[in-house]
Amino acid sequence: MSASVVAATRLIYFGAHHKPRWLVEHCGTLPEIQEGEVLLRVLLTTLSADDLQKFAEMASEDVPAVIGCESVCEVVQDRRQHKPADEINQLHPNAGPQDVNSNNHNSNEKLLSVPFPPGTRCTFCVAVSCQECQNCRNDSSRWCPNSIKYGRIPLSSGRGFSGTYATHIVLRKLTPVVPVPPSISDRPAAVANVTVAAMVHAVEEARTPSSNASALVTGSNLSAVFACLLLRHNGYKRVICCDANQSRLKLFAKFGCETTLPINVENMVYSDKSAGVDCVVDTSGNSSMVETGIRALRCGGTYVCSKTSDTVHFPINSEEIIQKGLSIKGVSGYEPRHLREALRFLESNHDRYPFDELFSHRTYNLTEFEAAIHVAELNAFHRICIVP
Ligand SMILES: [Zn+2]
Repeated sequence: MSASVVAATRLIYFGAHHKPRWLVEHCGTLPEIQEGEVLLRVLLTTLSADDLQKFAEMASEDVPAVIGCESVCEVVQDRRQHKPADEINQLHPNAGPQDVNSNNHNSNEKLLSVPFPPGTRCTFCVAVSCQECQNCRNDSSRWCPNSIKYGRIPLSSGRGFSGTYATHIVLRKLTPVVPVPPSISDRPAAVANVTVAAMVHAVEEARTPSSNASALVTGSNLSAVFACLLLRHNGYKRVICCDANQSRLKLFAKFGCETTLPINVENMVYSDKSAGVDCVVDTSGNSSMVETGIRALRCGGTYVCSKTSDTVHFPINSEEIIQKGLSIKGVSGYEPRHLREALRFLESNHDRYPFDELFSHRTYNLTEFEAAIHVAELNAFHRICIVP
């Protein structure tokens, strides 16, 4: 097919043990969409070392697929119907008029109901829920048993453009879409719909009544960067980031974060005669960090796990949990309101932190995917930028 008739291009992933693992396919026409769907052009999407692990673990029934979901996009065609406010209230009769702009399922519904003109820069929730089950109606769509996740949808389902390693993606009916403010550049905007929104949710779960709150973040990945910034943004007076990888921690200083190695955590936490930190947000998924985190917590503190542990054994001393009255919360996914909050945070801090330093300087197109994987494996950047 000559380049002049290529309308859309997608990278089709077959699985870690398939040869080839992927191929890049040029399509002569754009995918056609139906009522309720949105066609987006992918402006920038990301790749990380963690992604490589997730791709390798994809189930055989989920491939071949167009993978990738962390991205910033632009509307090509939006076929969602505008829903009047009274219809929204009928859908959720328990929500009053004051709830239209509030953080509950009614405001989630509002996100679904506004079509955007072509060219609108936007991002979207990576999981699509049914909006009907008990969890969805209870502001817990992340637990919807009927949800599907972009980047994990087999090619045979839908329009064949369900991931962001493609020039275009088709959003299914009921997918919340959020406009991206112009002040946020493409790189930080691209991580809003996975990393930043998930950390907004994690920090919300870590909420503590202390007026002079302190927090410990374990891990040194991109989630840890945003967990630290969001905790500070939410009024925590002291936020310490802890990881064994000293070279990665160096970058945190540029974001105004206090850092330490695991061996020094207790000295640091108790140095100011405090009774320990109010909360711990673990982004590492590393079981060796759990003990460090639990020990650093004050009585009544909260431990938030936001990444699956690398082992089935979760080393917890039950007496410590009971005697100190600790709470342990698991956080996975997010609600549409967390994505909007992520964008508000990025907008209000766009010129305050050197966000671009978290990303690869050069961008890769789909035919350079092998090279992008190689750079991701080197772990030199938190995210590799792909411009399909
Ligand atoms: Zn549901």
